Amino acid sequence: MLMIILMLAVYGVALGSFVNALVWRIHAQSKETAKKSPNSKQLDRLSISKGRSMCPHCKHELAAKDLVPVFSWLSLRGKCRYCKAPISVQYPIVELITGALFVASYLWWPNQLQGLEVGVFVLWLALLVGLIALLVYDLRWMLLPDRLVFPLTGLAALQALVAVTASDRPVVALINVVAAVAVGGGLFYVLFQVSAGKWIGGGDVKLGWLLGLSVGTPAKALLFIFLAALLGSLVSIPLVAVHKLKGKSVIPFGPFLIIAAIVTQLFGTAIIHWYRVTLIGL
Ligand SMILES: [Zn+2]
Repeated sequence: MLMIILMLAVYGVALGSFVNALVWRIHAQSKETAKKSPNSKQLDRLSISKGRSMCPHCKHELAAKDLVPVFSWLSLRGKCRYCKAPISVQYPIVELITGALFVASYLWWPNQLQGLEVGVFVLWLALLVGLIALLVYDLRWMLLPDRLVFPLTGLAALQALVAVTASDRPVVALINVVAAVAVGGGLFYVLFQVSAGKWIGGGDVKLGWLLGLSVGTPAKALLFIFLAALLGSLVSIPLVAVHKLKGKSVIPFGPFLIIAAIVTQLFGTAIIHWYRVTLIGL
């Protein structure tokens, strides 16, 4: 078990490093393609599969010793080896958080990890990597790019499919998934339509469908929406109180939805059970 934890930590940290590169490349690519005459050579360098890692500031190609997660950042004291430009603390933080979430997912996975459930778990880890990328992207640029949301929706659908197949009662499980998607995205869709996109963005609606697919039951879909709203208020009310925020919200909602969905994935079953037993005595 210790071996598995160690392996997941290493994989998680390495994939956290991939998240940093992915987020930056997707943003740089979208900036390049938005230009009047996109430079195809530049786009090639920014390709996720082909391009070499480079310093975002001086564009110097990075050597293997610059790419060791966390350690490179620490040994370089957060500066580029070549141009000395500061490298954001976002890099090691994202790496460590991804590693920690990989281990946490294993330790607190709600079902027994055997048979098809192992497949559900591995698909969840892949989805988790993408969700962290989405979270970072939304925090930095207030946008949930379709280039991330669409493939992740496919991944979540696959996770739901394997989970339904692995379930003892597949028909019930399937109805639950459909209801979860309806709750997860439906509420935001209505809010989006009613407010003509003022209260929440179209990106949040798409994220709602995606997270609904992943959590898999309507009760859990309600739970992640509730948790996201709670987290959002806890963070934004103090900010409004000190007049950092005036009128129009400048906090993206996506990160709260993603954090809430991760908590729901791991602890949703336990929270809902506790709620039913303690508060309504079922
Ligand atoms: Zn540099």
